[in-house]
Amino acid sequence: MKEGIHPEYYQAKVVCNCGNEFVTGSTKKEIHVEICSKCHPFYTGQQKSSTARGRIEKFNKKYGM
Ligand SMILES: [Zn+2]
Repeated sequence: MKEGIHPEYYQAKVVCNCGNEFVTGSTKKEIHVEICSKCHPFYTGQQKSSTARGRIEKFNKKYGM
């Protein structure tokens, strides 16, 4: 029962709320996100709420983007 010591690394399928899908390395097999590089305010040139920006920073850190 040595859980979580050496988590396995998968090619995770990331599914965004906007419908975009992409693959990234993760310890999870499938990830659902609310925002991705496709609907990222930085790329679209739109400023969403500060809440969304906080989420993006978390997302970027988590997935190394
Ligand atoms: Zn998206």
